[in-house]
Amino acid sequence: SRVDNPYAGAKVYVNPEWKANAAAEPGGSRIANQPTGVWLDRTAAINGVNGGMGLRAHLDAALAQKGSDELVVQLVIYNLPGRDCSALASNGELGPTEIDKYKTQYIDPIAAILKDTKYAGLRIVTTVEIDSLPNLVTNVSPRATATPNCDTMKANGNYIKGVGYALNKLGDAPNVYNYVDAGHHGWLGWDDNLAPSAALFKEAASAEGATLADVHGFIVNTANYSATKENHFTINDTVNGASVRTSKWIDWNRYVDEQSYAQAMRTHLVSIGFPSGIGMLIDTSRNGWGGTARPTAAGPTTTVDTYVDGGRYDRRIHLGNWCNQSGAGLGERPQAAPATGIDAYVWMKPPGESDGSSSAIPNDEGKGFDRMCDPTYTGNPRNNNNMSGALPNAPLSGKWFSAQFQELMKNAYPAL
Ligand code: BGC
Repeated sequence: SRVDNPYAGAKVYVNPEWKANAAAEPGGSRIANQPTGVWLDRTAAINGVNGGMGLRAHLDAALAQKGSDELVVQLVIYNLPGRDCSALASNGELGPTEIDKYKTQYIDPIAAILKDTKYAGLRIVTTVEIDSLPNLVTNVSPRATATPNCDTMKANGNYIKGVGYALNKLGDAPNVYNYVDAGHHGWLGWDDNLAPSAALFKEAASAEGATLADVHGFIVNTANYSATKENHFTINDTVNGASVRTSKWIDWNRYVDEQSYAQAMRTHLVSIGFPSGIGMLIDTSRNGWGGTARPTAAGPTTTVDTYVDGGRYDRRIHLGNWCNQSGAGLGERPQAAPATGIDAYVWMKPPGESDGSSSAIPNDEGKGFDRMCDPTYTGNPRNNNNMSGALPNAPLSGKWFSAQFQELMKNAYPAL
């Protein structure tokens, strides 16, 4: 009974809690009615944290918004054991071995609620475990980018088991649409990373009773900043006989932006056995890169570097920077079926919610302090030892960050 593209012909749920935060900001009413993801980022989120809305409250509100139309609700499943193994800012409540708690205290209760026939009329999109499986390819030994926590999670198999279990149980409800996280082009766009990651997605989608039919599609760029489309150069361009792939920015990547990456990843996933109907989502919440720094033409053809650096919309210091990026703007507004193979542009990361604190802040969520969120940090192998590019004075990941919200609106593209 699932439709091919759940976003086609449907409204998308506006989270009243995010809406209130956005509307309380000067100028925020311009975007407060946009749909954003509901992050189930800890077990307590199922019932609601500190008096906030829990899952049933969101689904009840979604039914009210739906009326007699079709409506998509976007949930982010994000609580794996040993979560966020290559970084610290979004470490979670479950230790590396706590796979049983993940199954029985987190996934099972969510699956039970989603199966409630009261919600059978909603199209429930679940984006499954951001930033997990790709880490098992790119951030493990013997690579220079390895972290001990990612080595642990690869060795114990609990990311694979957790994702498989989630896909299987959530997929039991006929109105649930599972989308697995597939990183972004600035992470998996290299030849060494793409096919091995896709193979791992297949392994996870075949674990713990899951089958490839439990996967409706994949999401890319979640909570990241990679541009949807770079218009001033393509991967096939050369400058004075040199491929742009030799530029410092592209650094031998196969893709220059999210749309080309998402479409190629989709084709590859189908070629290894995923259903031919899978569709891609692109998180465009913060990849607009508008404002005064946005290039209006291709860069000068002096060298591959002047050409790429002069023309690129993405103004990051390095593609591996991921925390509260300075200069970022809201991207394409959420919309259905924007391009071939793409089910929707979505705002899965709610704009204005921090990626991580700029200095250590004690908390009871398991979140650490990652220096990639500190604007004075000079980097690590995962961003090729560049400055972090992060905004200063950021709160803990997930907390409201007014200065970032204002910057995202100021640099929105399309402009507000
Ligand atoms: C945080 C979550 C939060 C989410 C959405 C993540 O980085 O770890 O706690 O819900 O962002 O803002």
